[in-house]
Amino acid sequence: MATQSPAPGTGSVYSNHTGFHSLDSNVPGLSQVILDQLNMSDYEEYRAAIEGKAKGVPFKDYKEMFRKMEETFKFCTGCSKLPQNLPGTETLKRCAKCINVYYCSKACQKDDWPGHKLVCMKLRLVAIDRLVEWLMFTGDLPLPTEEQWSKPSTEVRSWEDWLAMQIGLDARLDACLTSGNMETLWSSAGRPRPETDDLRDSVWRVQSEFLSRVLTLGDALQRFNLDPRTKPLTVHLVGASLNETMGARLTDYDELNLGRVYLSAYKGLYHQFWEELVETKEAARPDLVVGFHPGFHANPGLLKGWMPTLLLLRDFNIPAFFTVFSEAELKASLCIVQELEMNLLASGPNPFSSHKPEQVQSCPNKPLVYCHSQFLCYQGPLLGAPDS
Ligand SMILES: [Zn+2]
Ligand SMILES: [Zn+2]
Repeated sequence: MATQSPAPGTGSVYSNHTGFHSLDSNVPGLSQVILDQLNMSDYEEYRAAIEGKAKGVPFKDYKEMFRKMEETFKFCTGCSKLPQNLPGTETLKRCAKCINVYYCSKACQKDDWPGHKLVCMKLRLVAIDRLVEWLMFTGDLPLPTEEQWSKPSTEVRSWEDWLAMQIGLDARLDACLTSGNMETLWSSAGRPRPETDDLRDSVWRVQSEFLSRVLTLGDALQRFNLDPRTKPLTVHLVGASLNETMGARLTDYDELNLGRVYLSAYKGLYHQFWEELVETKEAARPDLVVGFHPGFHANPGLLKGWMPTLLLLRDFNIPAFFTVFSEAELKASLCIVQELEMNLLASGPNPFSSHKPEQVQSCPNKPLVYCHSQFLCYQGPLLGAPDS
């Protein structure tokens, strides 16, 4: 099946085809380090593993797995040198404050500090989250959400509204801290276990990233006044990038207790899906299309892949909702919406943004971003725009 190369692209968070190039343009040779540590031969193999199509990489034990993962973060944040390019027996030293970034020398660290100090404290959190995320693979996370909503969904419009209904959340977070896999994690991770409060916060951040896409979808329904109690609804999730599909299941949306909503996720080119299944009436026409981090603003290649989808959503008057990682990405996306003369209904900060900061692996001093931190939604063409 053709895929839409839906990753955010150059300079963005997740490695994808374009991501590998941007890794290497920031830190020459880094993509090779990643492949070597994972015993992989090329990008295709890497991608297959990330997407869960290939079996996990055979590591001797968890200690080796965490050590190799850390190796992929080892380069000088100041001058981009990899360990193998250091003279003689010299090794990289880690920033003692964040335990996240490395330097080849005191001089490089000193020169880098004015930039690094702006993100050092947050990078400390990222370094913890990066390890805690392993609990997504063991099944400890996401935590089950057990509470029935005590408020109608029209009154759940922010994290505060949602958190107020979660009576058992603290107990579930605490139970995660004492799980067997949490013990295994910190006895294998090659760094000290964080303080209890820090660790609980981290578990919440990882959980919030998972829940963010669920609650954002619920919010998107609200924005278009779509109510499954009035009529059954069809929602299509399109072009999800790697982190959205990693471990994702349609049951994830049970939290919303939507009832009569038919949800389908599609990873290939959506306009092909539309031609082959929607136009032939094999699949229902959607009441809402949601795209998490489609990244069509990122480069001309991605925009080209997305263009037929954006236009068909506009021309068939389908409510469309997209999220992006940052204000800058929103701005770039809005330019495209404007150029395509779409009827923008709303845009701005997403009230259900993830709480987990995301680091650009090859460029750790870049401002940290958050999944689904901004959104935009549109429906149909701009009023008064000429027919296309
Ligand atoms: Zn250096
Ligand atoms: Zn630091």
